Amino acid sequence: MTTKHDSPQQQAYPKKHLIAASGVAAMVSMVLVVFPSKQVEANRAVPESPAALHATPSKTVSPKAAASKATPLTASVQQTTVTEPVNTLATVPELLEETPESNQAPLAREVTVKVEQGDTLSAIFARLDLGHSLLMSMLEQDKNTRQFTNLKLDQELLFAFDEQGQLERISSKLSPLESIELNRNPDTGHYNFSKHTRETTHVETTARGTIDSSLFGATQAAGIPYNLALNMANVFAYDIDFARDLRTGDSFEVVYEQKMLDDQIVGTGNILAARFTNKGKTLTAVRYVDKSGQPSYYNSDGTSSRRAFIRTPVDFSRISSKFNPGRKHPVLNKIRAHRGVDYAAPTGTPIKATGNGKIAFVGNKNGYGKTIIIQHGGKYRTLYAHMNGYAKGMRNGSTVSQGQVIGYVGKTGLATGPHLHYEFHVNGTHIDPLSHKLPTADPIPKSEMARFKQATQPYIAMLDQAKPTLLAKAESSEE
Ligand SMILES: [Zn+2]
Repeated sequence: MTTKHDSPQQQAYPKKHLIAASGVAAMVSMVLVVFPSKQVEANRAVPESPAALHATPSKTVSPKAAASKATPLTASVQQTTVTEPVNTLATVPELLEETPESNQAPLAREVTVKVEQGDTLSAIFARLDLGHSLLMSMLEQDKNTRQFTNLKLDQELLFAFDEQGQLERISSKLSPLESIELNRNPDTGHYNFSKHTRETTHVETTARGTIDSSLFGATQAAGIPYNLALNMANVFAYDIDFARDLRTGDSFEVVYEQKMLDDQIVGTGNILAARFTNKGKTLTAVRYVDKSGQPSYYNSDGTSSRRAFIRTPVDFSRISSKFNPGRKHPVLNKIRAHRGVDYAAPTGTPIKATGNGKIAFVGNKNGYGKTIIIQHGGKYRTLYAHMNGYAKGMRNGSTVSQGQVIGYVGKTGLATGPHLHYEFHVNGTHIDPLSHKLPTADPIPKSEMARFKQATQPYIAMLDQAKPTLLAKAESSEE
C-alpha cells in the first residue's frame, strides 16, 4: 500500500514535512487496521495481518519465516509491514517509521508484469502491493494515464522502483513502434504520462510469384503478407476480377516498402509498383505522388489506372467457390435468362458498390429477392441481388461511393444458395464491363510527365529485374 512508499520518502523530507507526513501515515494505517480485520473475520485461515488486504495469501509470511529470513531487501520490505500482527493504532506509525530496511543496503529494482486474462491495472497494482489510492492519484494527475488502463492480454508492464522502494516509472510497449510511460517527477511526486513513437525506415523490396491455386497461395509462397496481397488486388481491382479471372500460370511482380526497425521487418508500407499477367495480358501500375501531393496509381505511360468501376463487388478473399483453372464461370444457379455474374460467398459477406452513384432502387424484386440498383451518371447502372440485408442508410436517392458497403450476401428470391447476382447495364442493356471501354480518371498532365517518368522509372526497372528470365518463361510456356 501507499504507506510502504511513504515511509522511505519521509526520511528524505525536512523535519516539518516529516510531521505532516507521519500524520498522513497514521491516517493511512488507520485504514490498514480497520480494513484487514474485517477480512480476517471473513477468512479465518489467513494470518492476521495487513497482508490480507493485498488478497495474495501466497505472499503472506508467518512471523517464524520472517525471523529466519533477514535479507534480501525486497523480501524484507514486504515482510516487515506484512508479518507483524497489528494490534493498536499507535503501533502502526512506529512500525512504519522504524522499519529495519532503512538500515540495509538499498537496491533499485524492476518488475515486469505480464497482463493475464481479465486483468485490470488496479488488480496489477494490488499484486505489486501498490495502493489503489496511488493509482487513483496517478489517474487524477494526468488524464492520459488512462491509456495504461486499456490492457491487452500478454502486454508487458515494467515497474521500476528506486533504492527506497519508491515507484519511479511504469512503462509498456504497445507495439514495436509505440510505448507509453509514466515517470515520477522527483520535485512534485506526480507521475507524468508520455508516449513515444519510433520512426521506421523504409526499404524497397521486390517479390514475384506465379499463381498455382490461388492468389493468396502464391503471395504466401513469395513471402508477401496478407495485407499486401489485398492491396495488390486493390491496385488491379479496376481491371482484374480476382474472384473469377485468375488462371494457373498468371504471375506478378511487385515492388513495395518494407518497414524496418533495428534491422527487423515490422510491417509493410506502400506498393510502389506492380505488374500482373492475367490470361496472357500484362498490366503495370506505378504509384506516383503528384505535384499537389496526391498519391495514385497510374499505368506506366502515365494514364490513370483508376476507373469508374471496380471489377469485383465482393471482397474476393471471401469467395467460397474455390479457384478452378478448368472452369470458366463458377455459376451457381441460373435465374431465367441469366444476365449477370454470380459470386458465391457466405451469407453476410459485405457487398460493395462498384462505382460512385445514387441508389435508384432498394427493395424486393421478384426472383432477385432483396435488390439494390445504383445509377452511375446517365449511362451506367449496376444491380445487386439476393441480398440478405441492406447496409444502413440505403434509400432511394442515397449517394454511394465506390467500394462502399451497400448490403450483405444472402439467398433471398430465387437462389439455391447464398451468392451475389451482379449485373452491369449500359444504356439499359446488360453487358460484361470488361468488354466496354470505361472512362478513366485524369492522366498525368503533359507538364508533369518528366517528373512522373523520373519518379517511377526506377520502380519499373525493379519490376523488370524481378521478372523471371526469358529462358525460364519460354520453358514454362512449352509445358
Ligand atoms: Zn445470377
